[in-house]
Amino acid sequence: SLSGELHQFQAETRMLLDIVAKSLYSDKEVFVRELVSNASDAIEKARYESVQGKGAVLGEKDLRISISTDKYNKTLTIQDSGIGMTKEELISNLGTIARSGSKAFVEQMKGGASSEDPSSIIGQFGVGFYSAFMVAERVDVLTRTRGHDAVGYKWSSDGCGSYTVEECPEAEPGTQVICHLKVQDREFSDEDTIKRVLKKYSSFVGAPIEVNGEQVNTIKPLWLLDPKEVKEEDHNEFYRFVGQSYDNPRFILHYRTDAPINLRCVLYFPEGKPGLFELTRDSVEGGVALYCRRVLIKNKAESVMPKWLRFVKGVVDSEDIPLNLSREMLQDSAVIRKVRTVLQNRCVRFLQDKLRKDPKSYIDFFNDYGIFLKEGIISSSEQMEKEEIARLLVYESSSRPSGERISLTEYIAKMPETQQDVYYLAAPSRELAEQSPYFEALKKRGVDVLFCYESYDEVVLMQLRQVNGKNIVSAEKDMRRDKDEAKYDDEKGLGKLETSGLMDYLKETLAGKCYGVKTTSRLVAHPCVVTVEEMASARHFVRTQFSQIP
Ligand code: ADP
Ligand code: MG
Repeated sequence: SLSGELHQFQAETRMLLDIVAKSLYSDKEVFVRELVSNASDAIEKARYESVQGKGAVLGEKDLRISISTDKYNKTLTIQDSGIGMTKEELISNLGTIARSGSKAFVEQMKGGASSEDPSSIIGQFGVGFYSAFMVAERVDVLTRTRGHDAVGYKWSSDGCGSYTVEECPEAEPGTQVICHLKVQDREFSDEDTIKRVLKKYSSFVGAPIEVNGEQVNTIKPLWLLDPKEVKEEDHNEFYRFVGQSYDNPRFILHYRTDAPINLRCVLYFPEGKPGLFELTRDSVEGGVALYCRRVLIKNKAESVMPKWLRFVKGVVDSEDIPLNLSREMLQDSAVIRKVRTVLQNRCVRFLQDKLRKDPKSYIDFFNDYGIFLKEGIISSSEQMEKEEIARLLVYESSSRPSGERISLTEYIAKMPETQQDVYYLAAPSRELAEQSPYFEALKKRGVDVLFCYESYDEVVLMQLRQVNGKNIVSAEKDMRRDKDEAKYDDEKGLGKLETSGLMDYLKETLAGKCYGVKTTSRLVAHPCVVTVEEMASARHFVRTQFSQIP
């Protein structure tokens, strides 16, 4: 039957659509980018299936994006000859929220941010297909997969709660998205407007784009170019295209090598701060697309980079990756493991250079992304690897003014010969660190102590244990190593007899609760301290972790 089946949008989708449709987001034109990027994805998928020997063999001519504008009917149509969708795919892809950007957006709106103006947030995420409803009062999607007995379907919605799906014999292989524009957004049915928008957002689409029959893009895979040939604006634009981002890159690593493996990559460290979504370890995909000789194997190929570098965006192309390597096999493949190691080393070296040559920008980066580096140290299995990443850590230290940072490497380089170990103290703030009883003794000895203010710093440093052959020791642990004999002061303090009386009392009272009671001359302003073996320095961490559990 040709009468449309009525479906309700999933609740989260409805909420998203409601926000999108009502939003006063001023950069509405980004919906063009979203739809073209979907068309481009669909084409890359078709190309991939074709090289894998699944589906029809496709020549370059078969793969294109055709855009048409119709001012009279106020429509904009974006058609691709890509992979198309089955009925089930139409329903799950366009009826529920799968896309990470949209999901993150909805999470943010549900969470505390709902008081913020949604328009400002839409820009940060990009809401994919649904962004069409910023400008369209109805969207029709005609689609057909590429199999020879595939049936065509039409999806249609006004973006208010429900949509219909019906069979559609006239749908061509691929997908056609028809936006019926709102009166106030009719400018998007103007050819020149669309050309201008495409120029801004879609120069890097890997398939020809036509507007009313005329090709408007030149296809240039930026990562294959000589780094010297690529201008900053090109990088900015490419970054936004591959990273689906709205900011600029902060650092750019355009890197080519042939040994130990062939790699052509552009990697971008984002300027914007990490989103909540990226921070959660479990739910996140990588930001790097994997190509093999210009054929996209997988967008967001999480296995290409180590997980802790998931905030890095860009493209990795390698001739050494077999084209028929299936996406599912990526994770376990030996070449991919090799790529991952090479890229991790290269990124770490790149950041080490930044720290040396441009410490100011590096520290800004560290303030935003340091937590990922720390995750890298914890999650690495090899000590060498941990230490390489650890050379990127910077801390305040007791001998430096507040706000100034020193790297572990520099700290070690400046250690006096008499000092054996790297000392650190974990405390919630500089003030508390300076007043800490654990700091008094080291302060008295004039030892420089690294101050760590993040709760997980202690766990990271404890795991790291060593760097450049030096032990990393918490101030608290140092105190336990104390062999100083206590000095008695019959005049102003406790005499020997009184002290031994107090000690007996404490040992008796605390019996079974503590391992030992000792006297020390290391304290200046505090009468006593409690120290704990091993987990000592993690106390602060444990406290903050447990207090965060609702
Ligand atoms: P994303 O592109 O991030 O996955 P979107 O909201 O833009 O999120 O699109 C949702 C899904 O709809 C896509 O993942 C894809 O499966 C499907 N889709 C959208 N446009 C097309 C298209 N032109 N061809 C085939 N599938 C499409
Ligand atoms: Mg998309």
